[in-house]
Amino acid sequence: MHRGRHAKIVATLGPASTSHEMILALFDKGVDVFRLNFSHGEHADHAARLATIRAIEIERGRPIGVMADMQGPKLRVGTFINDEAMLTAGEIFRLDMDSAPGDANRVQLQHKDIFAALEEGTELLVDDGKIRLRVRDFGSDFANCEVIAGGRISNRKGVNVPGVVLPLSPLTDKDRRDMQFALDQGVDWIALSFVQRPEDLAEARRLIGGRAAVLTKFEKPAAIDRLRELVELSDACMVARGDLGVEMPPEEVPVQQKRLVRTCRELGKPVIVATQMLESMINSPAPTRAEAQDVASAVYDGADAVMLSAETAAGDYPLEAVEIMDRIIKRVEADPVFRQVLEAQHERPEPTAADAITAAARTVSETIKAAAIVTYTTSGSTTYRASRERPIAPVLGLTSNMRTARRLVLAWGVHTVHTADIENFQQMVDKAANIARQEGLAQVGDPLVITAGVPFGTPGATNVLRLAWVPRAPVV
Ligand code: PGA
Ligand code: MN
Repeated sequence: MHRGRHAKIVATLGPASTSHEMILALFDKGVDVFRLNFSHGEHADHAARLATIRAIEIERGRPIGVMADMQGPKLRVGTFINDEAMLTAGEIFRLDMDSAPGDANRVQLQHKDIFAALEEGTELLVDDGKIRLRVRDFGSDFANCEVIAGGRISNRKGVNVPGVVLPLSPLTDKDRRDMQFALDQGVDWIALSFVQRPEDLAEARRLIGGRAAVLTKFEKPAAIDRLRELVELSDACMVARGDLGVEMPPEEVPVQQKRLVRTCRELGKPVIVATQMLESMINSPAPTRAEAQDVASAVYDGADAVMLSAETAAGDYPLEAVEIMDRIIKRVEADPVFRQVLEAQHERPEPTAADAITAAARTVSETIKAAAIVTYTTSGSTTYRASRERPIAPVLGLTSNMRTARRLVLAWGVHTVHTADIENFQQMVDKAANIARQEGLAQVGDPLVITAGVPFGTPGATNVLRLAWVPRAPVV
């Protein structure tokens, strides 16, 4: 079963999407990668959903990607007497380490390292920027702030500090426990929140030890400042527009989104555009025109995937949201302008054997109108390079490594199949033809372009380009 589109759909699971029936329906409607959000829910909830996904994988015979998204060092205020307080512009509001419930004069901010990083004039944004505070004076465990924008503040609201590089690892103690748990459960991706520096990724990689791929969420101005370095160090990236839009002015977000998508495409790393894509569908069965345009725009930019958050995790219309996303992607991809845009942005191959073969595979596939580009891969790297070419033909990624198959699901245009290794040229051709036909990618007589590495089964040695035509009878 082939999805009939190149861009992928990532959907977050939550209370609205817990039953086997619902997760199966989400998959059938088009979800390629499921996101487990460790900012919410218990370990048992995530384990149950993951077990359901793996059961569906067997039921449907398709690899499914699973991303465990770490909460990261999301700062929060403590609680209030009566659960809330009103802050007035011009007044002083104090943040401190005292766990006693707060009021209109003070509240707890339980992160000692933050106070050390503050400067006079640093802005703190509470509740997605609805409340703005500016530091007047501070000590090692308090800050007196002027209220710049006031309003209602309530228990445990989030705090963003965009202006400074905070001396915080993106992995809190909770994240370390969650990550260990997610790795033991066998997720494919670990998504890291509030990454600021290359060192942050190095630390996470050490802990992950190759058991999952690493996805960097860009949601801090500090990460945007070191965008290229961080993309190079990541296996995939996310434009996390929720927090990014709090930490940067709204007019910056679209610009940084384009920049990140471009850089990821140049470096051949999958990139996800996330947050508020179909936000109104949390409560409504149809999207706004602006939301449809937003999803379409990410697809025209050649992003690998678009993501749903609360729409599928907690909304009233999770299936409708996936269905609309699927329809928008297919409609854009059918537009000749979409193809022209991708052609104009075509990335140059790097001077490696794999890229030379891959670039040739794309050219050949377009000349003979191939039904698919078939890549034999062990680590997945050749298939990611083929995806980077953004070819018209779907990329069929064949691998004997189930982990590779699951990771490749996120990549633009890639349809992965888990299958045994090949041992000779005849098998290479026969298997490609059989699977392309079984998966609905090719019919009898259709041309295929095949890439592989000889000797067979040696990782990272793509050196063969072969053309073949799907024969009349399946070869056994
Ligand atoms: P979150 O990340 O949903 O975990 O906050 C995405 C974002 O900030 O956009
Ligand atoms: Mn976020």
